[in-house]
Amino acid sequence: MLSVTGVTKAFGGIAALREAQFSADTRRITGIIGPNGAGKSTLLYVVGGLITPDAGKVMLDGEDITELPPFKRAHLGLVRTFQISRELSELTVLENLLLARPGQSGETIWKNFFLPGRVRAEEEAAIERACAILERVGLRHLADNPARALSGGQKKLLELCRALMIDPKIILLDEPGAGVSPPMRVQISEVIRSLRDEGVTFVIIEHDMDMIARLCDRVYVFAEGKNLTDGSFSDIVADQRVIDAYLGGLD
Ligand code: ADP
Ligand code: MG
Repeated sequence: MLSVTGVTKAFGGIAALREAQFSADTRRITGIIGPNGAGKSTLLYVVGGLITPDAGKVMLDGEDITELPPFKRAHLGLVRTFQISRELSELTVLENLLLARPGQSGETIWKNFFLPGRVRAEEEAAIERACAILERVGLRHLADNPARALSGGQKKLLELCRALMIDPKIILLDEPGAGVSPPMRVQISEVIRSLRDEGVTFVIIEHDMDMIARLCDRVYVFAEGKNLTDGSFSDIVADQRVIDAYLGGLD
């Protein structure tokens, strides 16, 4: 579904990515791991459209999306999760989901003026959809609570729920387990896996090796902006080059 080839990106004089490549198969969870500074987040920004690479290509379903802005990628079904900002954390959990839909604000104001009935019907459908999404991740009972009252793990689930509002084909997650308690990591993993089983494709950066082992169908290892190796979790943990990279043995 997703294919990234030859991606190179430098910040100032520093090469964050050098000819990086990976692909994500439909209905699979692809993991991206590597030591700090390996270029993982930069790679995900390139895929999400926040950073334009100096060279290389991002293809989605055979279409070149390298130059598309994030909202156009979202229309094609590709989303990345966002941390709940300070402003959003003052809103309720349900409001966070309603605002995650594309074409909010201005468009709605005009439609509300000319087509009030249709807006009401759309709002009702969106609320129903939001509640169904919250129900399936176990946050339904918190719908009317402010987002700031959620635990670290519940916030991660809320970020995922916001992405689900656009009915995505592929979701990019940068460290869904960071700042999350171990039991909650298991719960988040279960949600991701059940979404995968229903047809959603995932690309996940994660430091927690238990999560990677539990979730990923294929794992790519990066170090110093370059591909080191890729394969199943059991392949890569047995690879001496991967062990050396994590121990800083690449210098
Ligand atoms: P990872 O997520 O694997 O820890 P990053 O993609 O965040 O790695 O960073 C890769 C390299 O690029 C690092 O050396 C980092 O300091 C640098 N880098 C990342 N983003 C920027 C930026 N916006 N400006 C300057 N340097 C950056
Ligand atoms: Mg990172």
